[in-house]
Amino acid sequence: MLAYTYVERGRFELLQKPKPVLQDARDAIVRVTLASICSSDLHIKHGSVPRAVPGITVGHEMVGVVEQVGSAVATVKPGDRVTVNVETFCGECFFCRRGWVNNCTDPNGGWALGCRIDGGQAEYVRVPFADQGLDKIPDTVSDRQALFVGDILATGYWAAQIAEIGPEDTVLILGAGPTGLCTLACVLLRAPRRVIVCDLDDSRLAFVRAHWPGVLTARPDHLREFVLAHSDHGGADAVLEVAGGQDTFRLAWQCARPNAVVTVVALYDAPQVLPLPEMYGKNLIFKTGGVDGCHCADTLALIRQGKLDTTPLITHTYPLRDIATAYDLFEHRRDGVIKVAVTME
Ligand SMILES: [Zn+2]
Ligand SMILES: [Zn+2]
Repeated sequence: MLAYTYVERGRFELLQKPKPVLQDARDAIVRVTLASICSSDLHIKHGSVPRAVPGITVGHEMVGVVEQVGSAVATVKPGDRVTVNVETFCGECFFCRRGWVNNCTDPNGGWALGCRIDGGQAEYVRVPFADQGLDKIPDTVSDRQALFVGDILATGYWAAQIAEIGPEDTVLILGAGPTGLCTLACVLLRAPRRVIVCDLDDSRLAFVRAHWPGVLTARPDHLREFVLAHSDHGGADAVLEVAGGQDTFRLAWQCARPNAVVTVVALYDAPQVLPLPEMYGKNLIFKTGGVDGCHCADTLALIRQGKLDTTPLITHTYPLRDIATAYDLFEHRRDGVIKVAVTME
């Protein structure tokens, strides 16, 4: 089968590999029907994910059809259409039992697919702990509707969930990239009074206004003044930092009102400064990533009910054989790309 492979730092190649086989009674083999490219794939390509193993198939955001299951798999069977969770988790350890699946203590737990083990930019993928890692897609939900459920939508859903958003709130989201937009869609489910989205990229702000007309948009320069003018208590009641830029952590806490919850979803390239003397008396509450991706059944239900729709984020579609071109477009943000879907034809 064809598999897009991390050959070495700076180099991915589409290679022929053997089809994966079951290695454990809790594994499933999934025939991938639609995959996508995530910025974390680019981090692997650029060598900034030290635990990524050269030779592995990349890709951790995909949907497919169960082809085969191990003897201990109970929740899915061959023929089921499924989303694949970016996180591998056992479902049984101290952290998993509390829903903190990102901290699963199993040696194979965490972000394994497309990083430490073969992922899904390929025709088939082996999914460990299939009872936890796969969720059935309702019949009326398409692959394109379900594509982001296991990764960026899981992140946005989790972030909106922990941000403690109330109906009177002004919510500030920093970053209108794919994860920022999924976060926006999930924040809107909570119907706060106002939502402000900030990004450096005017085309992304225009995208927000086109798809979510009730949302306010702002650039980072003078953001604090903008937030003060569009909030009721001297700043945003909840801030979700999904940008991970050089200055965005500082912006996040500066734009928050006293006693606000600041949720940090972003992954930074460099350490960030927490200037406690400057923020003394603001009594902020910080919550930090990464995602506990165990609510996929909930997001699939919301998609089925028509309450959540991330299909506008799929701006481009390429077949697997042209995935290098798709990466190039995504990496260089050409042609207004938000997300690329990869088909297996
Ligand atoms: Zn990702
Ligand atoms: Zn666990």
